[in-house]
Amino acid sequence: MTRPNLNKVEFVKSAASSAQFIQTSMPRIAFAGKSNVGKSSVINRLLGRRNFARVGSEPGKTVHVNYFLVDGRAYFIDLPGYGFAKVSRAEKERWSALMESFFTGKGLYDLGVMIVDARHKPTADDRTMAEYFKNSGAAFLVVANKLDKLKKSEIEPNLRLIRETLELDESVLLIPFSAESGTGREELLKAIFPE
Ligand code: GDP
Repeated sequence: MTRPNLNKVEFVKSAASSAQFIQTSMPRIAFAGKSNVGKSSVINRLLGRRNFARVGSEPGKTVHVNYFLVDGRAYFIDLPGYGFAKVSRAEKERWSALMESFFTGKGLYDLGVMIVDARHKPTADDRTMAEYFKNSGAAFLVVANKLDKLKKSEIEPNLRLIRETLELDESVLLIPFSAESGTGREELLKAIFPE
């Protein structure tokens, strides 16, 4: 689809169970990432906003799937963050159950955007998340955020480590990104909204 007007965005709803997931024929882009990886910041950077998707929300307190409607033409789906150490077992189980129902649901999204930290080897939780995306059959790409925190010489080896650890084959796009500086924004937008 052609690029929607990214300035026109509205929060639609927060789904806490599968009955509340939105069924639509519009394109839906689902974002996932470990707590604190900068998922809200990436979404805000794409939308050119500071505070739309909540930044620095209490990790683990929001096991919800949040839907944003962009220009009345596409949905951004903000999947709940994971991997926060202080989360209770009950909370972890809620996350797993909600993700299971989201990823086993039929055609609930069209493109998965998984956000990882460009500085670090992906965690076991990241690998689990990547498996959800890969197994669902929908298109999938990975964003390596916080690129501004890397030295130039660290970029290539880190990207290679991310690709290896998440077992991404060459067909999976891995976009170096910085929500802070805006690096990668154009490439990510092109991948989400190809002409
Ligand atoms: P979320 O929990 O994944 O939604 O993460 P947030 O968007 O709340 O970001 C967590 C922290 O990382 C905040 O302090 C952000 O300012 C910071 N952050 C996010 N993206 C970047 C980035 O690209 N570069 C740097 N240096 N900091 C970032």
